[in-house]
Amino acid sequence: MAQKFYCEYCGHSASSVQSLTSAYCFRHPDGPNKGKHKLYEGSEKSKYTCKYCGHQASSIQSLTSAYCFRHPNGRNKGKHAPAL
Ligand SMILES: [Zn+2]
Ligand SMILES: [Zn+2]
Repeated sequence: MAQKFYCEYCGHSASSVQSLTSAYCFRHPDGPNKGKHKLYEGSEKSKYTCKYCGHQASSIQSLTSAYCFRHPNGRNKGKHAPAL
């Protein structure tokens, strides 16, 4: 099976890093579509853990859809972020 590359902000997947990072990310920390997807450099997992609070989800997409109460910008000022 072909390797998949995931965005760390939204969980979007692409077949190459090039195609992933050439498209705008609707969950970019600067605002929706204010920047491109960012490559998640960790390995594919059955569970992803937020590096700020330890919250777990089965996909990057579901992890990054919820606000993080321990986000470095302030309580609920940003989404969970997957640890590597
Ligand atoms: Zn993204
Ligand atoms: Zn979190």
